[in-house]
Amino acid sequence: MYDNFFRKITTINYIIYARLSKEEQGKSKEDQSRSIKNQIIMCKNYIEEEKKLYQDCHFIEVAILKDDGISGTTFDREDFQKLVSLIEQKKANMVITKDLSRLGRDHIQTDDYIEKWFPEHNVRYVSIMENIDTYVDSVSNEIAPIINWSNENFARQTSKKIKRTFKNYRDTGKWTGGEPPLGYQIDERNKYHLVIEPKGKEIVERIFKLALENNSLDKIAKILTDDKVPIPSLMKKSKRKIITETWSSQTIKNILKNEIYTGNMVQGKTTRLNHKSKKIIYLPKEQWSITKNTHEAIIDQETFNNVQLIFKSNKNKTIKSYDYLLKGIIKCHECKHLIGIQHYKNRSKNYTICSFYRKHGNKKSGCTAHRFAYDEIESLVLKSIKNNCLKYVDKTNMLNILKKQDYAFEQENNLRKKVDKCHKEIEILNKELDDIYEDKLKGIISIEQFQRIIKSKQKDLEYEQNQLKRYYYDLEKILKVQSEDQNVNKIVNDFLTISKPNKLLIVKLIDKISLSENGTINIYYKIKPPR
Ligand SMILES: [Zn+2]
Repeated sequence: MYDNFFRKITTINYIIYARLSKEEQGKSKEDQSRSIKNQIIMCKNYIEEEKKLYQDCHFIEVAILKDDGISGTTFDREDFQKLVSLIEQKKANMVITKDLSRLGRDHIQTDDYIEKWFPEHNVRYVSIMENIDTYVDSVSNEIAPIINWSNENFARQTSKKIKRTFKNYRDTGKWTGGEPPLGYQIDERNKYHLVIEPKGKEIVERIFKLALENNSLDKIAKILTDDKVPIPSLMKKSKRKIITETWSSQTIKNILKNEIYTGNMVQGKTTRLNHKSKKIIYLPKEQWSITKNTHEAIIDQETFNNVQLIFKSNKNKTIKSYDYLLKGIIKCHECKHLIGIQHYKNRSKNYTICSFYRKHGNKKSGCTAHRFAYDEIESLVLKSIKNNCLKYVDKTNMLNILKKQDYAFEQENNLRKKVDKCHKEIEILNKELDDIYEDKLKGIISIEQFQRIIKSKQKDLEYEQNQLKRYYYDLEKILKVQSEDQNVNKIVNDFLTISKPNKLLIVKLIDKISLSENGTINIYYKIKPPR
């Protein structure tokens, strides 16, 4: 079971809350107590069912609370206040009532509790009769416009169904995010699918090309601005107010880091508890929903990875007009800080210097200058890399690599078939779920039947989705191994054939270089030695 942040939680501290409704207040004391008793039994039964459903969870009854309902229009009831205080003390994370009217008669305030207060306190609220479950409901903010028009009960049920479907769409990689990113537009024939928007595509390609040539974000932004390339919000004819027509480095960065350009659907980076809550939550990467190959790629995976590599190596450096091949890669062996390169206009040589020493001096940093002629270091490093590359080529038995590739290719094909089958199953299950909701709305099936069928279908769906995830995981592993051998060969060959190595090749080969006080250079490679 997951709470609203989609974290896995294993201990469910639940409160059962019962209350007499307006009609019951006129009845005899005996009837009243029977009503309360029945409500509690129903809630307890529900919990028993939950226990079966979530066997890895631990259910703890925190309290059974009951109010007589005389003060039902306000939330000033004694036991209700106890409930509030227990939740505020974080002693409970689930509240269950027989029906919604038990919570309160004031609809606005009741809604507020369900849609805002409970979710914000990470409390799952369940109302058995109306089939309300805030755990199922509070999925994401994309659905907000749909909820807003759903004031009536019927519409409300429909919206829940749509919301759930949305979540499934997202899991199977359908576009649900509104305005697509630069370079894409929504497919006219299928609103969940993205297609290329040619003008934007050109700009995106240009940005990636400029980044590969090791231009800084600022520089790319400047080039585009100077060329009067329209900024994304102008391209999209967005209703947003256009403040500036200058490209910002942040916009460039967002584009360069967006995996969507490789044909993978990345969604769900942020969430809101629900539409009434303003709090935006940034989810960790493991919780993003990423589906591979859902639309045409603009940037191939290799280019994308290369740009991310350059990003990483440039992270620590300040933008200056001189760029050295090994800038940002050399680290101080003694203090582990970056080794900078000092350029003197009036001198012919450039020198390395420990950046920590430069900033704080010997006394405060405890480090020394690490001052060496940069050009000499560079040529020593390149010579050493070259020797290692030659050794690599010598040892590599090409025939073995080809054999391995054949086997991996077969495995890959099998997995792809399985993935296709899974996608089809999921589509069918989704359609079946939709039909059942229809049947329920039309009153063809009873609530009990409905709940039973839904539970079993959802289990099937969950199973298929887990399978899919596993297949994708395996597939990724195979593709990685497959491309690793090819890649290393290519990089090594490139390095040996190219006359002057560029920064990209260096960051592909080298993790870091350490330079010590006495001038010893250690090179840490990214690639593994030949197997
Ligand atoms: Zn140092």
